[in-house]
Amino acid sequence: MPECSTAALSMQGVSATYRDRNDLLLALDSVTLDVQAHEFVAMVGPSGSGKSTLLDIVSGLFGESAGRVDVDGEAIALEQRLGRSAYMRQRDLLLPWRSAAENAALALEARGVPKTKARATARQRFPEFGLAGFEDAWPSQLSGGMRQRVAFLRTILADRSLLLLDEPFGALDALNRVSMQTWLAGYWEAERHPVLLVTHDVDEAIFLADRVLVLSPRPGRIVHEERIDVPRPRRRAAMTSPSFLQHRSSLLTALGVIDETNVA
Ligand code: ADP
Ligand code: MG
Repeated sequence: MPECSTAALSMQGVSATYRDRNDLLLALDSVTLDVQAHEFVAMVGPSGSGKSTLLDIVSGLFGESAGRVDVDGEAIALEQRLGRSAYMRQRDLLLPWRSAAENAALALEARGVPKTKARATARQRFPEFGLAGFEDAWPSQLSGGMRQRVAFLRTILADRSLLLLDEPFGALDALNRVSMQTWLAGYWEAERHPVLLVTHDVDEAIFLADRVLVLSPRPGRIVHEERIDVPRPRRRAAMTSPSFLQHRSSLLTALGVIDETNVA
């Protein structure tokens, strides 16, 4: 690893420990990874493997117990990390008393943009997120997929280069999940922000990412990594292609879900 890397994110030997009453619980064990400037990296791991903890560390919400975190080639102390990345957390709820556009504008308001301007800017982006006509709807009037897109727009409007996504479609039903993944692939292929997405869904990881990392059960360690050679633009039909199935098989094997001896 070069001394001064220009990766959007570089983590070296990062460990994380929670204090649970009198016990110490090791959640992440010496994780080393990077995300390059125009790269979509997905991390898959079982529940409890430390995926959310890892994103909390990158975003500055939780402190690592060992290791180093560089953003855009700079070592960033925990307290300076807040605001260096755009983070969509696992249960990213919309405020029920704000309209869709007012919710989306939150990130801009947090950056000091005056309310009226923030809301006007947010409204302009609604069509691009498939939300045209729903600017003034309340969160309770939106479908799950639409609420997720509002939360996603809010995250994007934070206007940070590095995007951190924690199981963004985990709460959606299967059909909505598929359409949101297809939408995100198209959005990303146009923008190519650096992304680190964590998920327990192997198909989602392969469909979206350039590279997939596999985290072991707790304490989370990176046990496998592979580059995804499915061509872009990604189409749903690619999910039945031989290379997609090959990736699925090797990632499930790395996760310990299928036994290597049973893989053809
Ligand atoms: P994942 O997102 O992969 O499901 P998490 O990062 O949420 O995993 O959690 C990793 C491990 O750390 C889990 O065993 C979880 O119970 C534990 N953990 C998470 N947050 C806390 C906390 N605030 N205090 C104590 N233990 C925690
Ligand atoms: Mg989690």
